[in-house]
Parts: sequence; structure tokens; C-alpha cells
Amino acid sequence: MIDLHMHTTASDGRSTPAALAEQLAAAGITIAAVTDHDTTAAIDDVRTRARARGIHVISGIEITAVQASEDVHMLGYAFDPAHPGLVAFLAAQRVDRRRRLEEMHARLVAIGLPVDIESHLSSTKEKSGKALGRPLLAAALLKAGYVSSIAEAFDRYLGAGGPAFVSRRGASPADVVALVHEAGGIVSVAHPGKLRSDALIEPLAEAGLDAIEAYHPDHDTIATAAYRARAARLGLLVTGGSDFHGRDSGRTDAMGRVTLPVSDFARLAERIA
Ligand code: AMP
Ligand code: ZN
Ligand code: FE
Ligand code: FE
Repeated sequence: MIDLHMHTTASDGRSTPAALAEQLAAAGITIAAVTDHDTTAAIDDVRTRARARGIHVISGIEITAVQASEDVHMLGYAFDPAHPGLVAFLAAQRVDRRRRLEEMHARLVAIGLPVDIESHLSSTKEKSGKALGRPLLAAALLKAGYVSSIAEAFDRYLGAGGPAFVSRRGASPADVVALVHEAGGIVSVAHPGKLRSDALIEPLAEAGLDAIEAYHPDHDTIATAAYRARAARLGLLVTGGSDFHGRDSGRTDAMGRVTLPVSDFARLAERIA
């Protein structure tokens, strides 16, 4: 089975590289891509550990781009993780993630919700390559008892338009396509069903987008079929995966359930070989 979307503790996943390698083996995954948010820090470690279990790991990334004040997640695959332009871009993304988290934390304090995230900020030096994100604030709000679930933290405080929300500074989706191409990789627009509108797919296809993530736990069979048809019409490849964030992450565990069909992967493999 093939799964091209998953996270580790290098971003907001709960699984360490060692745990993820074991979970992949237990789920029967044979080809995997680690796609942490704005960091490639976990890829080598997962690859080494997965290889020992007969699992092939492809280099991956989930880059947060911004268009019309909305986050657009872009998946990159089979790029050179050492490409200097990409390395510098991702480092800048992580610096902005920290800035944003600090500003959002200040807003929470200002509205009377003084959560403690100091240990995360101080223990996460830039050289670790760890990408900070809002789930950390959500977990702190939950731990402090201000909300009763991660979803409530996003709904009431952290989501777009919420009282603690701070917008990010980021590249456009088209810029991300160009950058990942420069690094020798291909780009798929992640879970388009989660976007306010998926009208950006056509212009992005014009800008060189390679694929659409049709298979994702947030897509039902109708959505998946629609994105497959759209990909075929636009001459794009199809990608997919579980968007696994680890056990106890409070999110659907779709590893082994939402996978990419072998025939779609075969077409992708021709491009990334
Ligand atoms: P950030 O990377 O800081 O923009 O935080 C966004 C991440 O938070 C997403 O990639 C999801 O993993 C997670 N997230 C966003 N909305 C929710 C939600 N309503 N419930 C749980 N997790 C969420
Ligand atoms: Zn995530
Ligand atoms: Fe995403
Ligand atoms: Fe993801």
C-alpha cells in the first residue's frame, strides 16, 4: 500500500521517526512519503528506519503557501532536500511560524488566556529544523482547561478570524511550484476539498502544477472521483495519503485506510524516476 502524506514530531505529528517507521510497517505500507509542514528534518531518519522494514521512503514536504489571505497547503515530492534555495526558503518559513506563534500567544494572554508555550519555544532551536504550528497553542489551551477539544480551540480562538488569529506571511502557491521544480521535485495541491474554493487549481495547472491530492481522509468518494476527473481533464497526476498525525493526535487515523492506488503511483513514478 502507498501513502504519500504523513507528519512526524518534526512538525505537528505525534510520532517520532522511529514510531512512524513501526506504524508504517504495522499498517502494511510499502511506499511512503514523509510530508512535514515546512521541514524536511525527519526524512532521513524515517527512511533509514523504514528501509530496514522493506519500506521505500520518498522525500516529501507540505509547504504552507498563501493566496487571498487563505493558507494553501502544497505537497512537494522527490526533490533534492539539500537544494540551497529550498533550504533557505523553508528556514524562512519556520522563522515566520515562530513569529506568528509568539504573536498569537500574546493575543491569547491579552484576552485573558495565559497559556504556557515557553518550553516549546526555548527547546526548539532553528537548527533542529522543527516547524512550530498552531496545534501547539491548541494543545496548551486544552491542557489549561480553556477548551475541551483541539477543534474547539481552533473554532473559538485560533482559526482564521478568531480573536487570537494572526495571518502568516508566505509565498504564493505558484511561487512554491516554481521553487520545488527548481529543487528537482514535483508539486501536488494538498486536500483541495478543504479550501474555501478550489478555483485556484486551473490557474495553478497553467503555472506548472503537477498533481492533485485526490485521496485524503477529508474527501469522500464523490470528492475523490471529482478530483480524479479534474486531474485527467487538466493533464495532472493524482496523489493521496492518510495525512497521518499520529495516534492520540485527536485526528482521524487513516493510515492503511486512505491510500494511493498502485496505478496512480505508477504514473507518478514515471515522472519522479
Ligand atoms: P499552522 O501550521 O500553524 O497553520 O496550523 C495548521 C495546522 O493545524 C493544520 O495543518 C492542521 O494540522 C491543524 N488544524 C487546523 N485546523 C484544525 C482543527 N479545526 N482541528 C484540529 N487541527 C487543526
Ligand atoms: Zn499538520
Ligand atoms: Fe494540510
Ligand atoms: Fe498534512
